[in-house]
Amino acid sequence: MAEKPFDVAIVGAGQAGCTLAGKIAEKGVHPSTGEPLRIAVLDRGPYFKGKPNPGYGSPERRRMFTNLSQDFAGKYTRWTGMPPGARRKVPLQPGQEIFLQRGPAIFGGGTLHYIARTRAPFDIDMQVWEEETGADWGPGVLKPYGQQVHRDFNIHVRPPATLCQLDHLVREAALSSGYELSDYPIAKKNCLLSGYCDGVNMCKYDARQGSFTVYLPLAEQRGAEMIPNARAQRILIERSRGQARVTGLEYLQDGIRRTLEVPHVIVSCGNYETPPLLYRSGYGPRELTENLIVENRNVGQHTDNRPESFGPVGIFDEPVSDGAFRHGNAYYIYYDLDSTHRYDRLAISMWARTVPYPHQVAVDAAAPQFGPAHKDYMRDVCDATKMTRARADIARQCITKLELVRPRNIRGWINEWGEQIYPGHHPSIVSALKKGREVIYELLKKMGAREVVGMDSPVRVHHLEAFVGSCIVGTDPKRSVVNPYFESHDVEGLFICDGSVMPRAASQGYAGSVAALALLASSRIVERHFSRG
Ligand SMILES: Cc1cc2nc3c(=O)[nH]c(=O)nc-3n(C[C@H](O)[C@H](O)[C@H](O)COP(=O)(O)OP(=O)(O)OC[C@H]3O[C@@H](n4cnc5c(N)ncnc54)[C@H](O)[C@@H]3O)c2cc1C
Repeated sequence: MAEKPFDVAIVGAGQAGCTLAGKIAEKGVHPSTGEPLRIAVLDRGPYFKGKPNPGYGSPERRRMFTNLSQDFAGKYTRWTGMPPGARRKVPLQPGQEIFLQRGPAIFGGGTLHYIARTRAPFDIDMQVWEEETGADWGPGVLKPYGQQVHRDFNIHVRPPATLCQLDHLVREAALSSGYELSDYPIAKKNCLLSGYCDGVNMCKYDARQGSFTVYLPLAEQRGAEMIPNARAQRILIERSRGQARVTGLEYLQDGIRRTLEVPHVIVSCGNYETPPLLYRSGYGPRELTENLIVENRNVGQHTDNRPESFGPVGIFDEPVSDGAFRHGNAYYIYYDLDSTHRYDRLAISMWARTVPYPHQVAVDAAAPQFGPAHKDYMRDVCDATKMTRARADIARQCITKLELVRPRNIRGWINEWGEQIYPGHHPSIVSALKKGREVIYELLKKMGAREVVGMDSPVRVHHLEAFVGSCIVGTDPKRSVVNPYFESHDVEGLFICDGSVMPRAASQGYAGSVAALALLASSRIVERHFSRG
């Protein structure tokens, strides 16, 4: 008997894609027959099957990359950007800046990096989303989904044993200055809390929680088909009598071009990769698309970020930690340049410098270059049993970082190579970050720092955090790409749900917000398209 065709394909099995796959498989049925849906889930990376076992892992999935500070082989991550020899459809203007993203390339790769620190959006974040777009994504609707993410991902504050003296100093100084302080919780279960998973995609022991461990297994249990190593090339869109609709999907798997006939496609390739896929499919602004089928000038536009810059370093007389590898900042301090807390929020993080990995210590500016002095230094700094001089020199330092949440009136856009063109050094961003430095200076002094280094160096935005908005939601089709039900305004059968639909950055974290939105999307898509009619 011939296999039944797929009812829906989910493209991109990251934070949003895994949530959608699990929840739609759990609740959705074919609207006319009531039978279970046939769901295809595609990702450009591999799929390591196995029942999650938080804190222990399963053998197949232990092959996943972890326990190094970076994915050195680049096996499960990809940078966006223009390949050598290629050209941009819209040339860069003088002074424009390009930001790229290192994104996952593995089923579930969008689970949390950076020690799985995340949270659902604050009420104020959701209020801004609702006010700016007209979408009913305010706290009244979305908050319960955020609470569900906290329960499902086991998001909790860090155990006191992982905090050091500096964390306590930061907390006291912020509160006594009257600033808003927020914990930076973690999404983990049965974790060793070594902190050595910093900066990687996965956990060999499944202790890191996310939609991959929590929701994707639901899809597998209900027979969704996982299609790994499948890079979506384009969504097939047909236009007849003025109406465009999805007919299928074309993808490359192991170098072979394949086609899937499917009437519903949910795109979840992330803020940087969703627009290029839509451009390749003929959907977007005329000048960026290939073979234009449907024009919508909002596709790829309106990106928002938290421009990030390092702040000054505080030097204390005595060590403020034991120097052991930890978990970065325990708190965020908010300093609002806008009295409504909506725009230009400075998010400040401060953490004790810890002894880096040996290969990093060896070339550190503080390490003598050669001979016995170098050896003595290495012996000293790596001796975790006592606070040697070299170790104390590191443990006396406080590192700081600044992010500007929702810079007012500043937006960027994504081109066909997944590059974000964004005015990271716009004068209003730079002046806000300068103000943030002053706030950090005062805090460090209050905490008892003897010296504050780096107040005079130029502000440099080295990274954009919380990249969102490239397929923005809205009730007005002239200013947005999807409606509040995650349906494209222009193409029937096309849905978008990932960081790209989020209208503005959340104040903290990111993945938790994406998961909350994806839970809302699953429920709305099931209700409107996959419930018994
Ligand atoms: C280095 C780094 C560190 C981060 N650290 C944190 C953190 O500590 N806390 C936090 O809250 N958030 C963090 N984030 C953000 C977090 O990863 C995102 O919130 C989240 O993954 C976004 O979800 P998404 O579904 O929009 O996209 P993603 O999770 O990125 O998923 C997109 C998926 O689409 C796939 N894909 C892309 N293009 C194609 C294609 N053409 N065909 C098929 N598949 C495709 C990718 O392989 C990927 O699996 C970090 C992000 C990065 C890059």
